[in-house]
Amino acid sequence: MIARLAIIGVGLIGGSLARALRHAGVVDKIIGCGRSVANLERALELGVIDCFTQDPARAVRDADMIFLAVPLGAMRDTFTAIKGRLRDEAVITDGGSVKGSVVADARAVFGQVPARLVPGHPIAGTEHSGVEASFPELYRDRRVILTPLSETDPDALDRVTRLWQHCGAQVTHMDLAHHDRILAATSHLPHMLAFGLVDALARRQESDELFRYAAGGFWDFTRIASSDPVMWRDICLANREPLGEMLQCFGDEMRTFATSIRCGDGDRLREIFQRAKTARDSYLDGLPPHQGH
Ligand code: NAP
Repeated sequence: MIARLAIIGVGLIGGSLARALRHAGVVDKIIGCGRSVANLERALELGVIDCFTQDPARAVRDADMIFLAVPLGAMRDTFTAIKGRLRDEAVITDGGSVKGSVVADARAVFGQVPARLVPGHPIAGTEHSGVEASFPELYRDRRVILTPLSETDPDALDRVTRLWQHCGAQVTHMDLAHHDRILAATSHLPHMLAFGLVDALARRQESDELFRYAAGGFWDFTRIASSDPVMWRDICLANREPLGEMLQCFGDEMRTFATSIRCGDGDRLREIFQRAKTARDSYLDGLPPHQGH
């Protein structure tokens, strides 16, 4: 049971956590904190939070659990604002999409990573932002990766693990650098491809016509290019090296395509397409029905 949960950043991720925990009946009072009063008032109207403040220090004052769900670029300022204002037993966790930068920000502000800080990342989301986009089922049957450090307090880790389990999530623990490499490949790179494809076409003179005739597959593939630009700028800057490596690797693959197409090398193209199809189909075939095809 959480007596007072402070959510800093009541958007898609923070709002959905609040809704899920309320739905599970495991939280007594939820204090919301953010920048714009309009979003916080809406969160209050929707019953996502019980009260709000724009001051992170006030939000965490009596909280026993604190969830940071602001863009990565705002994490350091948030740590600075709450430093020295926390109860001794308070547990801090976050939902930031890159873990190395959150831990580096905490170390820079607190001098060391607080033992009761448990870095985390829900592998769930949509292309929509703000509390209006939040919903209680967002984390159901989704993975949440926690990246505890050697200094992480086992009791804090246990509390955060149970918090996510109450939302219906499957909790996995992972080394922090490993998390950032995996997510560079499976989340950050695909977002670059979607943003890049839409931008490249949008900048062409005939872009209206291109979009008019684009079929469902194009809009499916590029759905995530409607995601928040500030959030994605921050993710790229926070995960520079792993994402740079993945972009290099993908660029090499695209150059292979270009050469094969230019030379009319159909065998090479078919070989690549077959390998990709086999890898995708055999992985999805091994998954439970709701996660597979
Ligand atoms: P969101 O819907 O835009 O919500 C972010 C919240 O943070 C908003 O309530 C916003 O308040 C507040 N905020 C923004 N900038 C701030 C600042 N400088 N100082 C204080 N508060 C600020 O974003 P989200 O999708 O929930 O993402 C939140 C975090 O979750 C990010 O770190 C992201 O990397 C991570 N994440 C996102 C997804 C996804 O699919 N969206 C998935 C997993 C993890 P105002 O409304 O008042 O501006």
